[in-house]
Amino acid sequence: MWSIRTEPSRSRRGAPTPSQSPPGHDQGSDTTKRRAYVVVLALLTVLMVYLRVRDGGLVPYWSFVHPALAFYNVVLLVLIWRRKLSLHTTEALVLAPLVVVLFGFLAVWRVAPGLVDADGADLILVMLWAGVAFPLCFLVFGTRRGLLTALGIYLTFLLLVAPPAVRGEIPAGSHDAPTDFTLSLSVFFAVMITLLWALASRLEQIAVARGQMKLLAAQATTDQLTGLPNRRHLDDGLDRLIALARRHDQQLSAVLIDLDHFKRINDRLGHAAGDRALRAFAHHLTASVRTGDLLGRWGGEEFLLVAPNTGHDAALELAERCRARLAQMHVNDVGPITASFGVATLASDEDARSLLSRTDTALYTAKREGRDRVVGHTTVREA
Ligand code: GH3
Ligand code: MG
Ligand code: MG
Repeated sequence: MWSIRTEPSRSRRGAPTPSQSPPGHDQGSDTTKRRAYVVVLALLTVLMVYLRVRDGGLVPYWSFVHPALAFYNVVLLVLIWRRKLSLHTTEALVLAPLVVVLFGFLAVWRVAPGLVDADGADLILVMLWAGVAFPLCFLVFGTRRGLLTALGIYLTFLLLVAPPAVRGEIPAGSHDAPTDFTLSLSVFFAVMITLLWALASRLEQIAVARGQMKLLAAQATTDQLTGLPNRRHLDDGLDRLIALARRHDQQLSAVLIDLDHFKRINDRLGHAAGDRALRAFAHHLTASVRTGDLLGRWGGEEFLLVAPNTGHDAALELAERCRARLAQMHVNDVGPITASFGVATLASDEDARSLLSRTDTALYTAKREGRDRVVGHTTVREA
């Protein structure tokens, strides 16, 4: 009869919560955004060059701004392409000249109209472009500061265009009713800012919820005391690694580790000292295993190590190395600690349950033979 020891996990008072890692950064979407900015800047550069050639430098304001903006865009484009700037800086550097140039135009038009030589159509075009600033504000500054910046820009816009619009001083060009257009554009921008703010808030809520979900998922699979994967994680991980080993026709070994006479430590020094010893032991084991190995807390003072691509002899060596290093470990007030190791290697057609059962048998033998030793299980019996 094969049975797996299934010590129930004990409740641990005062156990530290695992460190809260920030929500993972989405590298993929960063790259997509960078590419989008490169395309936008390239298009803007082409537009600037086209307008400079078409205007022939007749309007003083644009004869300076078009080439300057084209040059700025090319420099920025190269820096983004070579990943010299963070995404946040990129967005700020796209926003800044837009605000300066477009609002500069409106300001110059108010103060020295001769320099911009604008008719109604020119003004409408500039006003429309100014609207691009609002989504950028939210991208650069986030929800709250984005709203404040957008409102600041919006007020500047109103100060510049509303008085002449109300007085009917916006020159009629190709557009029939520039005043009406300016006023309705002002309202349109206000609606746009409100919608953008609502959208940004919603996105922020989603990001927070995603972060919390990740944290909960991590907590559900992490042992609170040691920070190692817990039994649930080990169960899933073992099944996954067995499937992988089968697919690639590789060996796989499991090592069940149990601290010796741990109850005595608790009885002698108290539960808190026992907890400290468990943490130190987990830390020690983590330092001893290789990348790719799966190590976790199986329950109580038992740990499970799953070593993919590892045959029986190599697994015995690995366990012996851990045991020998453990002999050198000294937990402050606890003193020396020893552990027993049960090793088994996956046989063809064997499942996780049978493999674990054999590590358990080997561990039991190690205990019976005097503890502080490694014992391997080599024969597979039918479950
Ligand atoms: P053996 O060498 O046969 O394994 O002896 P043992 O004393 O280690 O084994 P036993 O199963 O009798 O006792 C295990 C002890 O581990 C009992 C329990 O109080 C202690 N233990 C289990 N989980 C925790 C824990 O999270 N913290 C502390 N401090 N002690 C724990
Ligand atoms: Mg035990
Ligand atoms: Mg024990």
